[in-house]
Amino acid sequence: MTSTRTLASSSVVIVGCGGLGVPAAWTCAAAGVGRLILCDDDAVEVSNLHRQVLYSESDAAASRAKVVALADALQRRFPHVELVPVARRLVGSDDLRALVAGADGLLEGSDDPCLKFAACDALLALRGAERPPVGVIAAAIGRRGQYFGQLATGACFRCLFEAPPPAAAVAGCRVAGILGPVALEVGAFAARSLIRLLKGQPDAVAGALMRLQSGRLDRVAVTVAADCPCRALEPRHSGVHPRP
Ligand SMILES: [Zn+2]
Repeated sequence: MTSTRTLASSSVVIVGCGGLGVPAAWTCAAAGVGRLILCDDDAVEVSNLHRQVLYSESDAAASRAKVVALADALQRRFPHVELVPVARRLVGSDDLRALVAGADGLLEGSDDPCLKFAACDALLALRGAERPPVGVIAAAIGRRGQYFGQLATGACFRCLFEAPPPAAAVAGCRVAGILGPVALEVGAFAARSLIRLLKGQPDAVAGALMRLQSGRLDRVAVTVAADCPCRALEPRHSGVHPRP
């Protein structure tokens, strides 16, 4: 964020309005982000209510779109925030790039690994923009969670993970579910880090993977992988490492 912009004049794209996206959106609104673009193509279900805490039984009974129900809940509490619901499935990095191009930040918290790579690629494509957005890519399963900060320079999500996991593995993760408090914690922490990046403040997530496990938060520094596409975007090829 340039010095002429404030959090109130900033916009953030939230991808996924489930277990991570709900606390992330709340954290952004509470911090004073001026515009939130909420993206999700799911409707509220009863099974969501224990960890997606801004949805109600009436939302589930009416099968309301999550983005609409979340926008309503946030608007009641934070009337100053501009909320933009996008109730459709995002398709690939070009789709995501078009949404993020006019924004300052991106928080990816969906349960679709392909969207995490699309978020990474959209941020990479915008590194040459006049004001490139920053992003945090988050995930959680069971009692574990993690989030990665991707800036306008340095390592990207693909430096960590070369490609999405096989579909069977993804399906297995969805069946495993997420412990409610872990989702709340990871979503809120990820958003807090994004806010610090937007404000130009130092944060541990910058170029690093934060891992939450058994109530403990570990930081793993990530440097540019030798064979990652982002390396070509680096002004200097220093600090490269083989993928783990
Ligand atoms: Zn990379």
